[in-house]
Amino acid sequence: ALDISGLQMRFPGLETPVLSISRLHLPAGSQLAVTGASGSGKSTLVNVVTGLETATQGSASWGGTDIAALSAGRRDAFRAAHIGLVMQDFHLFPGLSAFENVVLPARLSRRLTPAMRERAHHLLETTGIARPGQPVETLSRGEMQRVAVARALLSKPGVIVADEPTASLDRRTGEAISELIVRLARQDGATLVVVTHDPALMERLDRRIGLEGGRIVADSAEALAA
Ligand code: ATP
Ligand code: MG
Repeated sequence: ALDISGLQMRFPGLETPVLSISRLHLPAGSQLAVTGASGSGKSTLVNVVTGLETATQGSASWGGTDIAALSAGRRDAFRAAHIGLVMQDFHLFPGLSAFENVVLPARLSRRLTPAMRERAHHLLETTGIARPGQPVETLSRGEMQRVAVARALLSKPGVIVADEPTASLDRRTGEAISELIVRLARQDGATLVVVTHDPALMERLDRRIGLEGGRIVADSAEALAA
């Protein structure tokens, strides 16, 4: 489960916090869509819950582990072991092939097994990467996005966090990628947090929150409870 409590992110020189969430509980295995205009704090939320950035106040914990409270080394290890992350700007490694990008994190942490290599091929096939040996920098943005999705899903993480995973894809490819993310998350029982503006994707998830100025201004769970 994800538990957020009193979370605030401030940046020097800015009067108001860019993120301010007093409480959010997301049960393990459930799926959350995060929406909101540009600048509303969606990526900041992603960065904080994955421990890429440390909030100025409050906590975000996964199954009781406050990720920001871990040492840098343990935080990276926790993320590698438990969180599949699709960043808004992909963070792929140029000079390496699509396949090598997908298996790189596992290779670096010496967890790469033949079964994972096979899963990597399968994921690249499912995401529609026809030539997995092609250097990633020669791929289109949409293809890069698909490689990033395949990489995030490789080690069957218990948590999948994706920041606009279908933003630069055409509708059909976007739907295929959404379908893949949701299907694999369900299959593996993973908790899913997706930043998205895609109504088709939102509709398929358990809960939807809307951010404005870093605050939750809409929550489908509360709408149901009200
Ligand atoms: P988009 O839809 O464009 O990706 P977003 O909802 O993901 O937007 P964030 O990237 O979370 O928005 O940014 C939220 C606010 O925080 C923005 O106003 C941004 O300028 C500000 N911000 C983010 N990072 C920093 C930083 N390092 N220093 C100062 N301000 C920052
Ligand atoms: Mg963003």
